[in-house]
Amino acid sequence: MKVAIRDDDTSYFTTPDALTRVYGDIWDRVPICLAIVPFAIGYEQPGIPREHWHSGQSMPLHCNPALVSFVRELIAARRVTVALHGYTHQDFPGGYEFQAAPDLPERIERGRAYLESLLACRVTVFVPPHNALSKRGLAAVSAAGLNVLGSFLSFRPSLRPWEWRTPANWWAVQRYRRATKRNRRDPLVYPHALHYATHAEFGCHSLVPGTTSEALLRQFEEAERWGGDFCLATHYWEVDATLKRVLDAFLEFAARQPRVRFVPVEDLFA
Ligand SMILES: [Zn+2]
Repeated sequence: MKVAIRDDDTSYFTTPDALTRVYGDIWDRVPICLAIVPFAIGYEQPGIPREHWHSGQSMPLHCNPALVSFVRELIAARRVTVALHGYTHQDFPGGYEFQAAPDLPERIERGRAYLESLLACRVTVFVPPHNALSKRGLAAVSAAGLNVLGSFLSFRPSLRPWEWRTPANWWAVQRYRRATKRNRRDPLVYPHALHYATHAEFGCHSLVPGTTSEALLRQFEEAERWGGDFCLATHYWEVDATLKRVLDAFLEFAARQPRVRFVPVEDLFA
């Protein structure tokens, strides 16, 4: 059973200390996927300085050289891998970035090339800002051949670009829904990667304020029972002492399971 961790929102606004505080005692055992925003525009979020909340100014990652060299070292030490987390992460009047921005293919192409050259790494995974991906957004990500790590992925064929694998994947999810006695509205994280023609998708379990160890263990045990894998998704800026305890307890539990292997998120799609 593969177990991975994804952390969202590293950007120009992030300090090395903020990442070390949460993962400094973890990333030697468990590689962390940093889902990075290449040209972040501030919004109301505690991890972003207040003066940037409404500035509308795009801040390229390279303008924070201390963070860039820190992340490059982390990559070289195999403590982290890098995913693309939108382009600016800005909200539009019509929705979140990968629902409403007009130029999604260009945002993916430019953002990916920028991170790969600045950080000297490969980027093969896309994490949608706010976990929101429209049909058009999904088409752009798929055309770029990036795999998607989501949290509330929709499997409804009507919300997806059509391709020949769509119905089979939808049926697999329906079978899982029935087998786990969920109705249509119950939350569901399908524990296997779903492969499409040019990309694959995997759903993560959220670690957010209010998440308990008990809930995570239940979700973990369900994934294990169905022969699946498990990815935990969080935001470093949201991890306080309570959430850090939940995270540590979960990892301790997972490490004790004989079948568990901690992997970089990229391996979830292998
Ligand atoms: Zn985000």
